[in-house]
Amino acid sequence: MAVFIALVHFPVIDKNEKTVTTSVTNFDIHDISRCAKTYGVRRFYLVTPVPSQQWFAKRIIRHWTEGFGAEYNPTRQEAMGVISLANDLVEVVDEITKETGRSPIFIATSAKSRANMITYKEMREKISGAEEDYCILFGTGWGLHASVLEEVDYFLEPITGTGDYNHLSVRSAVAITLDRLFGR
Ligand code: SAM
Repeated sequence: MAVFIALVHFPVIDKNEKTVTTSVTNFDIHDISRCAKTYGVRRFYLVTPVPSQQWFAKRIIRHWTEGFGAEYNPTRQEAMGVISLANDLVEVVDEITKETGRSPIFIATSAKSRANMITYKEMREKISGAEEDYCILFGTGWGLHASVLEEVDYFLEPITGTGDYNHLSVRSAVAITLDRLFGR
């Protein structure tokens, strides 16, 4: 069993539920790769079809995985080794299938509730000891587009804190999700 995560920059929605492509964020690359490495994620896919955004991401990744950056901060180099760029989710499926020989089970995350959600406890039990591979999807902007949500196998329940507010940064959402599913 292998676990993959994908940070989706397209297709996502904006405030008015229009389809948009969001910009890559430097912090996401650093923080999510460290989190992925800590919790044994096989690959962290950064999904954007925009060439200039891919160039930006590659430049950051290269800085910390080769040359001065790698020597200066080896733990960052190690973490960034889990990142791959992908144009879209079809490419993510292709890449995972190439690596593992099968398509993964897709799990969506959101701050919003919907019908037929699975709890963290149920998902943790399902994954533990499973033979299948899993890919957990995280959104940007105002969240994953409906066309993505229609295709996934599971929706994780939203993370909640102490009150009604639960609009986490995607970096926090990744950390909490991975800890709830895989933390000891
Ligand atoms: N601009 C924001 C940022 O800086 O992270 C991006 C917001 S984006 C909608 C946040 C993503 O994090 C969601 O698509 C979802 O994947 C995840 N997320 C945020 N809050 C969450 C929650 N309460 N429960 C589960 N996932 C959550």
